[in-house]
Amino acid sequence: MGLARTVKAGCSYLYSTFFKRPEKTLEDFYINRFGRVLYSMFFEDYTRKIWGVHPSEISPEWGAQRVKELSLGKALLNVFIPQREQRETSLIEEFIYPKHGPGQFWETLAALLRSEGVEICLNACVTGIRTDGGNISAVELADGSQLPCDAVFSSMPVKDLVAAFENVPDEVAHIASSLPYRDFITVGLLVDKLAIKNTTRLKTIHDIVPDTWIYVQEQDVRIGRIQIFNNWSPYMVDDITKHVWIGLEYFCSEGDELWTMSDTAFADMAADELRKIGVLAENEPVHSSVRIKVKKAYPAYFGSYAEFGKVREWLDRFPNLYCIGRNGQHRYNNMDHSMMCGIEAVRALLDETDKASIWNVNIESGYHEA
Ligand SMILES: Cc1cc2nc3c(=O)[nH]c(=O)nc-3n(C[C@H](O)[C@H](O)[C@H](O)COP(=O)(O)OP(=O)(O)OC[C@H]3O[C@@H](n4cnc5c(N)ncnc54)[C@H](O)[C@@H]3O)c2cc1C
Repeated sequence: MGLARTVKAGCSYLYSTFFKRPEKTLEDFYINRFGRVLYSMFFEDYTRKIWGVHPSEISPEWGAQRVKELSLGKALLNVFIPQREQRETSLIEEFIYPKHGPGQFWETLAALLRSEGVEICLNACVTGIRTDGGNISAVELADGSQLPCDAVFSSMPVKDLVAAFENVPDEVAHIASSLPYRDFITVGLLVDKLAIKNTTRLKTIHDIVPDTWIYVQEQDVRIGRIQIFNNWSPYMVDDITKHVWIGLEYFCSEGDELWTMSDTAFADMAADELRKIGVLAENEPVHSSVRIKVKKAYPAYFGSYAEFGKVREWLDRFPNLYCIGRNGQHRYNNMDHSMMCGIEAVRALLDETDKASIWNVNIESGYHEA
């Protein structure tokens, strides 16, 4: 950062420690914890990349769920006195990772369930919800067939869930149909080497940089994050002795310029961006690429989200409906939270309790990820 900028950042941090802003927006949230200078360097443009809007237009709730109790003070303390028992999620340095990625959890779970005789229907898009009195009696699939049900655990986007009901009150229908989302594209590039060097003491195969992922704050490129899969698990790469497999992440909106670009043009653009920020050398060839688009990857905290409580209240009136997971609750839940919602939902069903414990997952700012 250089001495001058470090001093400036330090002064602005001290100022924000003594003069707290009322936390009305995400911008206030970040400035209160990191100071204006660090906020401008690390959070302002990155946040705009993710959500497509400025942090001053986003609710501070997102910060509370994303950065939780982290502040500059705690981050610095961690540099000088690494905590044995890590409490801040953003500072965790070690992860236990399945050999072939997190999808293995669900493949294993599906195999276990099938071995117990549970039927799992894949590629079955729910388009309609049928009610009988106060309860949900069946879900209708895109092919027109109906599945009768005792209970529904819904992790589909709240927007689509509400649209699947008949006779939704106008206000609830309006709030749900205008809930905002951010879509996502990831492109994998297979290269021989990276231009950035490992200047740390951490040992890696072929001495590549030890990072699993890198946030890209630069304004002049659209890439938001880079994953280095070699460092997640060597089994994720075809030949770890020869190749580096990187994943580039782009935040976008369905139908925009990035979304509609062809796969080849996208991979070329992505490789050019990496060359521009010095992650790939100018002449570094890309051996192969793959692009994956994910709709509604990020439930967003602006627009009609402010009135989400009314939608939740209406959905909770159906005794046998349980809203779980990330899009199912329109909340920035991670995998742990999403699984926790499932566990709480089963408890609520078996114990016939209300649904507060399900909605309370990921509410406490001190929630600790296992
Ligand atoms: C880029 C990115 C990086 C992430 N990184 C991490 C990470 O490092 N660690 C972490 O813990 N979490 C991470 N997450 C979050 C994690 O992926 C989610 O929390 C988790 O997948 C949510 O689980 P879920 O079951 O609620 O939803 P999903 O996994 O999204 O499952 C919902 C399912 O419902 C299906 N569906 C949707 N509509 C319908 C319909 N109408 N009918 C039938 N089915 C439908 C979808 O196809 C999907 O299979 C990341 C998310 C993103 C987008």
